[in-house]
Amino acid sequence: MFGKFKNLQQLMDFFKDKETCVEYLEKKRWGNNLICHHCGHDKVYRTNVGYKCAS
Ligand SMILES: [Zn+2]
Repeated sequence: MFGKFKNLQQLMDFFKDKETCVEYLEKKRWGNNLICHHCGHDKVYRTNVGYKCAS
């Protein structure tokens, strides 16, 4: 799921910069199609603190 990373914590440690991490996850996991982290809902909008599910 996280490529060369074994888990999310390892990924977070690598990407100390939160914004860089968010952008990485965005491209790696969703491409142009944003999906909710939690329930998989396809209506997600971005806020200044991350993503918010619309379901
Ligand atoms: Zn959701």
